Amino acid sequence: MRDVIVVGGGLAGLAATAALGGAGYRVRLLESRAFLGGRATSYPLPGANDSTEIIDNCQHVLLRCCVNLLDFYQRLGVSDRIEFHREFSFVEPGGRVSTLKSGLFPAPAHFTEAFIRLKFLDLKDKIGIGRALLALRHERRSRTDLDRITMLDWLQEKRQTPRAIERFWRQVLVSAINEDLDRMAALHGFQVFWLGFLAASNSYEMGLAAVPLGDLYSSDAWSSIPGVNIELRSAAERLIPNGRGAGCVLVDGRAEKADFYVLAVPFERIPALAPDLGLDLGGFSHAPITGIHLWFDRPITDLPHATLLDRTIQWMFNKGEGRYVQLVVSASRSLLEMPRNDVIALALRELAEFFPAVRDAKLEKAHVVKEVRATFSACPGLEEARPAARTIMPNVFLAGDWTRSGWPATMEGAVRSGYLAAEAVTEADGAARRFVLPDIA
Ligand SMILES: Cc1cc2nc3c(=O)[nH]c(=O)nc-3n(C[C@H](O)[C@H](O)[C@H](O)COP(=O)(O)OP(=O)(O)OC[C@H]3O[C@@H](n4cnc5c(N)ncnc54)[C@H](O)[C@@H]3O)c2cc1C
Repeated sequence: MRDVIVVGGGLAGLAATAALGGAGYRVRLLESRAFLGGRATSYPLPGANDSTEIIDNCQHVLLRCCVNLLDFYQRLGVSDRIEFHREFSFVEPGGRVSTLKSGLFPAPAHFTEAFIRLKFLDLKDKIGIGRALLALRHERRSRTDLDRITMLDWLQEKRQTPRAIERFWRQVLVSAINEDLDRMAALHGFQVFWLGFLAASNSYEMGLAAVPLGDLYSSDAWSSIPGVNIELRSAAERLIPNGRGAGCVLVDGRAEKADFYVLAVPFERIPALAPDLGLDLGGFSHAPITGIHLWFDRPITDLPHATLLDRTIQWMFNKGEGRYVQLVVSASRSLLEMPRNDVIALALRELAEFFPAVRDAKLEKAHVVKEVRATFSACPGLEEARPAARTIMPNVFLAGDWTRSGWPATMEGAVRSGYLAAEAVTEADGAARRFVLPDIA
């Protein structure tokens, strides 16, 4: 049995561990925190009297086209804890609801009936969007500049109306990519619309965990994968070179050795952990996400979730009978400097515009999570700078949503990167295996 040390217990490290453990490697996973999941995790509500009240750091959403993430959940035996939703509600200020769902036509025309009925766009907006989607289908293969232009550049080139840009393209893409349209490479916008909206009639279906995120990676889940040892509160300090490769990793001053090392930490940790890899990460920067948890004394909505138009808050998720809701703002730079009480006041003000019951409800508690380093900013030109799994050291590999996974910074991207790193380990070991499942189209 060959030994592997995986540093980092986010989805990338967990996926590499599951794949390599399943392939017969002996894997030690070192995670600096007291729990697994990294940026997709859950923990007891800070300051709550009852420590059993567990919240996700932020609502996480997947789509059916996240085939590797779903495969990872299957490896852990937790696929049945993901519930899929087939209807998206778009709510306008004032409360008018439009529903997007798949209809009778086959892909890519499966949204036709629902799209025609959307109330928040007019005919001109819809004709323009239809034209742009047809162009996207064709240009995703023919254009070579998609990583050099922004999504907004492309939408303007396609003469999209301001309302179509604000209420349709921005509403979908800012949440999916966690970046504004004028900062996001068109490449990523294309991928979301192609895989999520056009490639298959069910690929848009939204998966939400029915349990706290952390429960998906519990120790029970790992019991079926032999050879895996998870070590929490174990921060790797530095990778020590030995000849051309790495000789060990320092953990609390101890030298921990393995045949192979997978570094699955966020990009900002790499310079301190592995300076000898000489990676140039100058092109990377962060984009923030803010999650706002609100508990009311009565239900304020019976929708399971909704995307909210024309305001700061972009999504509402109903986490408990309409009384506990979680609001999400992606690319939330405007909220970073705002005091938490002001964020809560803004959220209540806006929410009342969509769900009038908020006006009579009493807010029982609130919790704001500002994830300043939520994801990397998917700006034009960055694709080239994203490193592959292999490094200049033959026994050291990289994983993480920021590496060249073929996906933007998402749970699917993180799992793909973990599988890619695991594949690279098996290749270096002379027994190449494939773990990455191809995209649906
Ligand atoms: C608020 C928020 C909302 C999001 N919403 C969505 C969503 O709806 N859908 C979606 O697909 N994606 C979403 N994402 C993105 C998604 O969470 C990430 O892309 C993904 O979880 C990244 O996984 P990772 O393993 O690459 O990195 P991380 O999750 O950051 O994992 C890295 C791990 O390494 C550990 N670590 C760091 N340094 C060391 C060290 N020296 N030694 C040991 N361990 C170390 C960290 O503690 C961490 O656990 C969201 C992210 C945030 C923050």
